[in-house]
Amino acid sequence: MSEFDIIIKNAKINENTISDIGIRNGAIEKLGKLENGLKTIDAEGRFVLNGFVNSHCHLDKSNLLDKMGEGQFGKSLEENRRLLKELKSTYSKKDIEARASIAIEKMLAKGVTAIRTQVDVDPTCGLVPIEALLQVKKKYEGRVSIEISAFPQEGVVGDEKNELMEKAIEKGANVVGGLPLVEDKTNQKKHLNLIFEIAKKYGKSLDIQVDESNDPRTSILLELIKKTSEEKFFNRVNVTHAISLSRFPTQKALGYIDEMARLGMSVIVTPSANMITRFVEESDVWMRPSNSITRVTELCDKGIQVSLGTDNIRDIFYPFGNCSIIRELHMLISATRMTSKDHIDKAFEMATINGAKLLGLNYGIEPGKDADLIITNSFSKIDILNNDEIVPCTIKNGKIQYIDKSILRGDN
Ligand SMILES: [Zn+2]
Repeated sequence: MSEFDIIIKNAKINENTISDIGIRNGAIEKLGKLENGLKTIDAEGRFVLNGFVNSHCHLDKSNLLDKMGEGQFGKSLEENRRLLKELKSTYSKKDIEARASIAIEKMLAKGVTAIRTQVDVDPTCGLVPIEALLQVKKKYEGRVSIEISAFPQEGVVGDEKNELMEKAIEKGANVVGGLPLVEDKTNQKKHLNLIFEIAKKYGKSLDIQVDESNDPRTSILLELIKKTSEEKFFNRVNVTHAISLSRFPTQKALGYIDEMARLGMSVIVTPSANMITRFVEESDVWMRPSNSITRVTELCDKGIQVSLGTDNIRDIFYPFGNCSIIRELHMLISATRMTSKDHIDKAFEMATINGAKLLGLNYGIEPGKDADLIITNSFSKIDILNNDEIVPCTIKNGKIQYIDKSILRGDN
């Protein structure tokens, strides 16, 4: 009888170590020189990583680009929201499932083994996207971990909206999302209060999109920090974007970051989508947009868990995206100048084990950890970024989900 379900031969597991990886019953069983596997794949010294985690995307909106007319992208936020409402009024579960499945298949072929998706919940689309994504989650069970965050795209202030959010959680959404900036200025604090109430009622974590403009005057991060502290929501609040931190003076930003670290708040960065954020136009001055990614290195230095997402993929808000986390890593590292070896290592951790911690997965390349692994097409981390974004093998739960046999040899 075979000792292992799969042996990955000659895997580079860090800069100095090439080892075989023995996989059995969905977990990494042994490292070293191994024989006797039911299947063998020879990595030939290529870097093997834990599967990528896409911590923030919107699968329900993905690939809406195919339904959009020429030139219907790159508009103002208000125009985009109007068009989204129009498209959403034609939503069917089947259509959402088809578009989301296209995105997931692409992600699997690019080494993504776990996803947290935001899914719209609002009076325009009701619970149709949530129901569709619950179905998709079932369809991909075992192939990719999917966590669903109920996302109030049109706000939560108002009985109907609030009730819909509760129903979404009751139906099976895992996380309570938030988008305070969609409310009138006077209702943004109320939005935070309401989503905390839902999270408390159902014992869920929060994942809130805040400060996604690089105009610091629109920031609501401090309110969120205060609320998290008041409610003692330690280790239960994730902040997505937080671009304002890059716009605040350093001392102020570091004060916020210290408090976020004390509260165990985590952060998700979506580099490509963040980069197209525009500076708010002044009445008579137009400021050219500059980098709009949060203070990633300072957050990491304070021990805050920062993970990575693609955000929108081929939709109204972001018409680009090929589902590749490698592309996001390249954008992150370039835009934030994280070019030292330590920083590149940190960036890869953001794309793998940090996202896994957020989703409660057991990642690492050592015995006892989940066999969620990818064989990259490169022999160094720098070349993973330089080469084409090809991931020739994706393994989830100890099973091969995707393999390009023209690249990898073995009896797989
Ligand atoms: Zn988003």
